[in-house]
Amino acid sequence: MVHGGSDRLLAAFLAGDLDPAVARRWKEHLRECERCRHAVREDRDGRRAARLLRRPAPPGLAARVCFAVEMAAAGRAAAPWQAGAG
Ligand SMILES: [Zn+2]
Repeated sequence: MVHGGSDRLLAAFLAGDLDPAVARRWKEHLRECERCRHAVREDRDGRRAARLLRRPAPPGLAARVCFAVEMAAAGRAAAPWQAGAG
């Protein structure tokens, strides 16, 4: 497979949209091509990170954040993000 112009193939492969025969050839290409392998790895890492970010907050987090904000507000005349506004 020719490497040049493979970005669209790469995108289709990552989306799972490749024809099985093309996908097989693409995987063979990945074994030989460091650049495309790297792109696939980066995409997968990015998707994994995005999945982690979409996880719902653990139970009790909102209450802990509220408590921390109240403690900070009680300890200072103004919270750091309010000081020096303007
Ligand atoms: Zn390549």
